[in-house]
Amino acid sequence: MDLSYTPAEETFRARVRGWLAENLPETGSPRDLAAMRAWQRKLHAAGFLGAAWPKEYGGAGLSPMEQAILNEELTRVRAPQVVNAMAIWWVGPAIIRYGTDAQKRRFIPPILTADEIWATGYSEPSSGSDMAAAKTRAVRDGDDYVVNGQKIWTTLAHISDWFFVLVRTSTDGTKWGGLSVLLMDMRSRGIDIRPIRQIDGGSEFNEVFMSDVRVPVENRLGAEGQGWEIVSSALVNERSGIAGSIRFDQALDWLKTTAREQQKLGDRRVRQRVADLATKGAILRWAGMRALTDSLHERMNPHLSAAMKLMSTSLVQEFSEAGMELLGPWAALMDDPRLAPGGRWAKQFLYDRAMTIAGGTSEVQRNIVAQRVLGLPRK
Ligand SMILES: Cc1cc2nc3c(=O)[nH]c(=O)nc-3n(C[C@H](O)[C@H](O)[C@H](O)COP(=O)(O)OP(=O)(O)OC[C@H]3O[C@@H](n4cnc5c(N)ncnc54)[C@H](O)[C@@H]3O)c2cc1C
Repeated sequence: MDLSYTPAEETFRARVRGWLAENLPETGSPRDLAAMRAWQRKLHAAGFLGAAWPKEYGGAGLSPMEQAILNEELTRVRAPQVVNAMAIWWVGPAIIRYGTDAQKRRFIPPILTADEIWATGYSEPSSGSDMAAAKTRAVRDGDDYVVNGQKIWTTLAHISDWFFVLVRTSTDGTKWGGLSVLLMDMRSRGIDIRPIRQIDGGSEFNEVFMSDVRVPVENRLGAEGQGWEIVSSALVNERSGIAGSIRFDQALDWLKTTAREQQKLGDRRVRQRVADLATKGAILRWAGMRALTDSLHERMNPHLSAAMKLMSTSLVQEFSEAGMELLGPWAALMDDPRLAPGGRWAKQFLYDRAMTIAGGTSEVQRNIVAQRVLGLPRK
């Protein structure tokens, strides 16, 4: 196993590092959308966004290794998230893979510049894990589809311009075969967006009601009936994105700082727990490197993304549980400046709960690992 980088890769790393030293924004609120938008535009202008996307559509055209180095450097400096993360992780790649040339030219550049924000509409009140049971109906009427139905848990719908939405175009045959994906203008007549209040006080996701919403047929992604294939491949990217976005080194730093602040660094049980979590974080980092090596040699099993998502989101919950226990009764406080970074744990604890649900629950990931990675029989 060769873990060294080539001189060209080291030069690329130095370039990224130098650029970040000059351009990294002051840490602000993770919910400051204007700042996140500005940060995304800066990254794009520097050629560090849409890393693997073709240059002709505004992508950076980087190699997978350069992309990995870029991610490492962004993680190292705790760079903020970009505003259009969902579109960067899976909507853009789906359009690049399944879209017509006209769709790519129309939609890809404003995704990169954050001029158009995207939301994703898979889940419905009666179909979350069983996404293929989606009932939202799209019926062809001339050059349009007319869409009626409801989506739920739609992250950022309230600030989105476009909707990557799974609809049922046919009720014949299997439930998977009757699905299609539409690219819906969020400002279309007949869309009603209602925010859902979260346990942490925020309101990042919504219910989306669609009544006779007209979507031009030219905004269908892929063929009619290809929806299941498209969202399955988008979900692989979503799960890899979630797994890759978890910053164990940052969680470990917070944990050590909290242990120090609570004067518990001398406690043998605390030390053992921190060491155990640090070891597990390192194992996952190397598992990520192995997945990268596999993809460089084109022997990637796409379903490994389910295993990585399952392991990363479960482990990050262990970190936040440890943080909460270290704080004891103080753990109930949210955003208390006297408790930095301890004050972050309550929010982090709640957020980490959501991560084993978003993008498919842990149980669903276990099913995928059992059937698609380990080849176990379906019960
Ligand atoms: C932070 C966050 C953001 C989200 N953003 C979006 C978004 O932008 N767009 C979108 O479409 N959705 C979004 N979701 C919804 C998410 O995809 C669903 O919540 C998830 O797929 C689970 O569906 P459900 O909530 O209907 O639960 P259900 O499917 O009803 O599951 C309930 C329980 O049953 C278990 N279960 C279900 N089926 C099986 C099975 N076959 N085997 C074993 N156990 C099973 C589940 O694991 C779970 O514990 C988001 C969710 C969260 C938490």
